[in-house]
Amino acid sequence: MDLVFATNNLNKLKEVQALIPSSIKLISLKDIGCFEDIPETQNTIEGNAIQKAEYIKKYYGYDCFADDTGLEVEALNGAPGVYSARYAGEQRDTHDNMNKLLDELANTENRNAQFKTVVALHLNNKFQTFNGICKGSITKTKHGKKGFGYDPIFKPNDYDMTFAEMELNLKNKIGHRGKAVSKLVDFLKTIQTKI
Ligand code: IMP
Repeated sequence: MDLVFATNNLNKLKEVQALIPSSIKLISLKDIGCFEDIPETQNTIEGNAIQKAEYIKKYYGYDCFADDTGLEVEALNGAPGVYSARYAGEQRDTHDNMNKLLDELANTENRNAQFKTVVALHLNNKFQTFNGICKGSITKTKHGKKGFGYDPIFKPNDYDMTFAEMELNLKNKIGHRGKAVSKLVDFLKTIQTKI
């Protein structure tokens, strides 16, 4: 089975590639000649994931899946959530975003947060979504160099390190994207056995 993963984010591609079995051939946006920014203008994480997958199907004609992720902080009533990428402004800078979040929480005891990923699959003219949540907390300072985005300030529950201090396979095993993509893979396997 050939499937486009609708992302320009090389970090996401690396994470997802490690989770997809060899029976599914992952095709990148580069492979289909798509070099544009795919619109994500919805006000929910699920809405954005569906919008991205729909866009590729509509304009490029491929079956595909897309992921959208947000960091939801309890003390901020779920912010930055769907606005995680541009939390500190349109420059979408990772360090600006993390610094803003650390400033917002500077005097806050409750550091509980969760990452939420929704994967939207557009296959054989049908839509399906898969969710993954990882609960944890926001650290007081940045730790680690691995991963991307908010990883240096997110410590998953039951681990004494941030995502940015973890090897990729551990982040994939316990993380939001890994959980959502595993559900996607299970679903695709059931389709493959029916073909
Ligand atoms: P999007 O899903 O690409 O729209 O990502 C929204 C924001 O969340 C961006 O700032 C990403 O850098 C960040 N983000 C997405 N996935 C992760 C992750 O696995 N770890 C840390 N930050 C992430």
